[in-house]
Amino acid sequence: MKKIDTIGAMQAETAQLRQAGRRVALLPTLGALHAGHASLIRLARERGYDVVVSVFVNPLQFGASEDFGKYPRSVAADAALCEREGAAVMFAPSAEEMFPKNFSTTVSEDRVSKPLCGVSRTALFRGVLTCWLKLIHIVQPMALAMGEKDAQQIAVVRKGLADLSLPMEIITGPTVRDADGLALSARNSYLTPTQRDEALAVNRALRRAKEMVESGVRSADRVVAEATHIIGEKRRLRVIYIAVVHPDTMEAMREVVPGQSLMAVAFWVDEVRLTDNISL
Ligand code: AMP
Repeated sequence: MKKIDTIGAMQAETAQLRQAGRRVALLPTLGALHAGHASLIRLARERGYDVVVSVFVNPLQFGASEDFGKYPRSVAADAALCEREGAAVMFAPSAEEMFPKNFSTTVSEDRVSKPLCGVSRTALFRGVLTCWLKLIHIVQPMALAMGEKDAQQIAVVRKGLADLSLPMEIITGPTVRDADGLALSARNSYLTPTQRDEALAVNRALRRAKEMVESGVRSADRVVAEATHIIGEKRRLRVIYIAVVHPDTMEAMREVVPGQSLMAVAFWVDEVRLTDNISL
């Protein structure tokens, strides 16, 4: 596994991989890698790709009041995970390398980005798209790996790539959870044991929503109300949004269409903001 931290060296590696006829998949991450990221490396490798994992806490996708400064950084452990999972390259540029002070170009998608996380985190998807398109130009992958944990990110990136005619295989993998059901996230490290315990109610609420759909309920209002009730029983939890949406457009649906509807939720556990979702 090669560890690369400059754009020039990554471009040279990209040229070599292409010359050798390798098929490359890119997995963009913010680092603090865990089993969720590892599952995506494995998935891309199983499809025959050499995997480039980018590890970069992208300043463009954090709002002024968000946790950019304290987001966990663990480059040595990240390199060890990449090595263990058989990634070909870990690309870990500095913020100055990716976005020097005079950087003045951004890319935004203005429809799928708007609802859900786009309402309160207005910088998020413009930051993600701008960063990822830059990474794509540096790495020139044939595939992009993404986790269903961030369902709106998948939809926004799919739309952005389609709009800009940038064909690429999209490899998506299911959300990896701890044994107790909490979706793995770097931000879980902010939680105290009590906060973590309360956060589990969200996964219970999502599973209850799925059970309701499986038993025949189709009203989005009813499943949203039930899930909100379950989360509302916890003192430290505050729902930012909870909605049944179409997985491609992120538009709200009045009726659940089994297999083509997603329940997405963002919530505060005290001051920690987490998200989760389930396919209904
Ligand atoms: P992040 O480092 O949080 O930006 O995530 C990088 C990629 O890993 C994104 O495509 C995420 O959707 C994916 N990912 C993050 N957490 C999980 C998880 N628990 N299970 C599966 N994929 C995940």
